[in-house]
Amino acid sequence: MIFINQSETKMNKDKGTNMTEHKKASHVVLTSHSNQIFKESIPINWGEKDPKKRGPVIATISEKENRNAIGSHSGSYTVYRALSIASGAFPQDHKPDLHNTEVTNKFGPYDSWYEPDRIVSMDPWGANIKEYFGEYLEKGYNIHPTVAVTQARLSIPEIKEAIDKGRLQVDGKIVTQAKDIKVTKVAIEPVWFLPGMAKRLNIEEGELRKILFQETGGMFPELVTRPDLKVLLPPIGSTTAYIFGNIEDLANPEVELTCRVHDECNGSDVFGSDICTCRPYLTHGIEEATKTAQKGGVGLIVYYRKEGRSLGEVTKFLVYNARKRQEGGDSAATYFHRTECVAGVQDARFQEFMPDVLNYLGVKRIHNLLSMSDMKYNAITSNGIEVVNRVSIPEDLIPQDAMVEMEAKKAAGYFTEGEVKTGDKLTNVKGREIEE
Ligand SMILES: [Zn+2]
Repeated sequence: MIFINQSETKMNKDKGTNMTEHKKASHVVLTSHSNQIFKESIPINWGEKDPKKRGPVIATISEKENRNAIGSHSGSYTVYRALSIASGAFPQDHKPDLHNTEVTNKFGPYDSWYEPDRIVSMDPWGANIKEYFGEYLEKGYNIHPTVAVTQARLSIPEIKEAIDKGRLQVDGKIVTQAKDIKVTKVAIEPVWFLPGMAKRLNIEEGELRKILFQETGGMFPELVTRPDLKVLLPPIGSTTAYIFGNIEDLANPEVELTCRVHDECNGSDVFGSDICTCRPYLTHGIEEATKTAQKGGVGLIVYYRKEGRSLGEVTKFLVYNARKRQEGGDSAATYFHRTECVAGVQDARFQEFMPDVLNYLGVKRIHNLLSMSDMKYNAITSNGIEVVNRVSIPEDLIPQDAMVEMEAKKAAGYFTEGEVKTGDKLTNVKGREIEE
């Protein structure tokens, strides 16, 4: 991290141009220098039971002497904040007024919050900072929440259709007369405890730090120069949990839980693109989560910003074209191979960290897991969370052009109660032509 002291200075631009008054960076302080280790920063003891001893994660830029983490708040939006500051619209020393921003629903702390290896990609003490870190706030430490909890109503065409067709009932409690669903929403920023991340990936912490530093073009020098800083707030997307019913019931293994862990797919989720099953599976998940809540259980949808298997939309669209233009057309038999040819890997989502959110919410048992992904299932169960039933997407919800993806996934080991195609049968599952 580099801190810039701004001051009004006269800058002599190139020879022959006028002297102009400019607000320019005159002095740059590298926090990777050893003299940037301040005694005013509070140590983070990841996994400590008492939040005061665990210590708040302080990644605010304004008081650099208090910082005890690499990176800064707001995930990927940290870059937009920088642009806003650069344009002069955003005051660099802004300290948020957090009055009335507290969570709408309380939950935890759960045992999982203080097992150091259990949650490593988010901060379980990231909400309720007034309660957990009040003393530090009073002393003037600029602590930002990394988790926020609010209430909402979902108005979704597929849900209205489910009600009209009699699959879902208006109960005035979970589903309103207006056919909306009442939910609790939890937004979670990424906070990475690097030793725990390395352990889960089965590599040395130093190796992880080095590769993160290199692959971001050297964005955070402290990754390699400040081994004393163990926490990174990476500039990546956040995660949102939608809870149907009582949020505290998520931690009670006796209460039926229906859960979908969903990875972002903007094309399908938002725009209804028919090449995959993402939106149909998501809305099916919402419908089932609602039904379970209405029966006295609880529903949970967790939405991860991992567009295109964490390869991004550009790569994803390149793969679509490569699939449809290949000899013989788009086929289930070559689905994963084409992705690997373009992206270098079939999948970059690292489901290893996905269960952290489930552990944060206290989940111990999932009665109905609405996912066919073996990677998600394995990550959840190897993390000590029990899965009772796995539920595949109903066949009638799969768009025709998405059959290629669906059959390829089943052939690759995704969960299904139905037939797994091989050989010619798999090759013969074809998608639309590129210009159709
Ligand atoms: Zn999709």
